[in-house]
Amino acid sequence: MNIICQFCKSKNFAAERPSDGKFISCCRKGKIKLEKPSDALDNDLLYPNFLLDLLTNPNNPDYKNFHDNIRSYSSAVSFALMGTKVVDFSGGRPYSYKVHGEIRHRTSHIQSVNGQAPQYAQLYVIDSTKATEIRVNHLANKLCNIRILDQIDRLFRQHNRLFDTYRILREVESREIAESNEAGEDVPVVNMVFGRDRHSDHRRYQPDSNGFCQQR
Ligand SMILES: [Zn+2]
Repeated sequence: MNIICQFCKSKNFAAERPSDGKFISCCRKGKIKLEKPSDALDNDLLYPNFLLDLLTNPNNPDYKNFHDNIRSYSSAVSFALMGTKVVDFSGGRPYSYKVHGEIRHRTSHIQSVNGQAPQYAQLYVIDSTKATEIRVNHLANKLCNIRILDQIDRLFRQHNRLFDTYRILREVESREIAESNEAGEDVPVVNMVFGRDRHSDHRRYQPDSNGFCQQR
């Protein structure tokens, strides 16, 4: 994959090159321009150094493990389950991931129910060390390194806006439970609704449930 798109710098196979040399599948010949993610003060949002190093530095002792298990790391620390129809492309071709139809993020109660192990956002309202322990003990994450999972968890707790949102939901819920119990009333259902601002610029990148950016 050493054929670089002149517009967006995507990497391509030689056989994918259109006759005019301008790639369509990545950026429609330069028509689609992605803005750099930025924070509220318009500073560029950069990769955290430890993630950048894991991704790009082959001398990092965890480089291979991180690359080999990158999807496990991603789902282990995600806030919601991705629900979509994945198209099976197995059979001799280069690895590709294709979905059919709509992509949804399925979320859950803020606390685990029926004694199930906490998962997704539920892991962010319990102690960080405990959350990492649960993640690494999950069969799907058996090859993940506990130290890396711990680092990502702590990074998200420090910087990810969704973490704050879920933490506040948990606090509101706890307060409602305490107040209802004191008053001898039924505990009301506390819901969190993700609103979509119609006036915001949808071409901009917004952090997704993993704290990474995707276009909405
Ligand atoms: Zn391109």
